[in-house]
Order: sequence, then structure tokens, then C-alpha cells
Amino acid sequence: MDKYECKICGEEHNIFKAIKSPTPQRILEIKESELQQRVKKINNSFIIDDETFLLLGDIFISKKDTEEPFFIWPVWVSISLADFKSKAEELKEKKNVEFNGYLETAIPFYKKAKGLKVKTIVNISYDYAVIKIKEGSQLKKDQSEKITEKRVLEIMEFFYHPPG
Ligand SMILES: [Zn+2]
Repeated sequence: MDKYECKICGEEHNIFKAIKSPTPQRILEIKESELQQRVKKINNSFIIDDETFLLLGDIFISKKDTEEPFFIWPVWVSISLADFKSKAEELKEKKNVEFNGYLETAIPFYKKAKGLKVKTIVNISYDYAVIKIKEGSQLKKDQSEKITEKRVLEIMEFFYHPPG
């Protein structure tokens, strides 16, 4: 299923299964003159003020009838740098390590996604962390219950024809 006929406008729309995650808003909001002093870039991650660690993760959303994830959304999440450092040993052993954090990326298929509490599972063997939404929300529901075909179309309708 790559396209669908839209009930709202009658056109065929593509079904987006992935979105891009540009530079996190938190970084863009920092004045250029302060960037060098406040932000460190390490591989694909950022550290702000030696306090906050911003890293990329994937949100997987699966459909009810399939095992493979249907949507894969790369997002930025923030976790505490102190927290991250406190688990350095486990990380070095290439274990899966969990951190509490916040979603830093808005997702165009949901009214409110940015700022939600998330569990971030990091394994340094992989480029991307795995993100599980913890805070009660439509996104959490979609992630934990697996979605139906009908819900896939609702998600796309929200994207193409956002409610006012
Ligand atoms: Zn439409």
C-alpha cells in the first residue's frame, strides 16, 4: 500500500512511511555567536551546555497484521548527559541501556508529539536509539496497540488535511 484515494479531496496521496529529521529545534534556537561555546557535536549527536544530550532515535509503528514496522520515524530525543555518563560501563559492554527522556521532534501526523516523555533504548552498536513513548497520547496508543488499516488512513488524512 503506497497510495490511497483521499475521501476528503478525491485525489490520490502517497503514504509516507518515513520522515526526515532535520537539525533539532533546540539547536536552531541557539544564537550563532553562542553555538561554539554551548554546543558540542559528537558523531550524529549534540551536547548542549554539558547538560543535555540530543540523539537520534527511531519510533516504530506496526500494523496489526504484520511483524515488520509499517512506519519508521527518525526523531531527536533529549536525555540527561549525567544519566548517560552514569551508564558508561554498560554502554561500553554494548548492552541495551534505557534512559528517560523527551521527544524533541514534532511529527506531522500528530497534534502534539514534541515534548512527550519517552524511553530511549541505546545500544552503541547501532546508529539509532529505539524510542518508546511513555506519556499517554495518541502516539503512545498507536505504538503500543499496533494500528489498523483504517488508522493508517487517519494518520495520512491528518497530514494532508490538518484539522484547523
Ligand atoms: Zn486529500
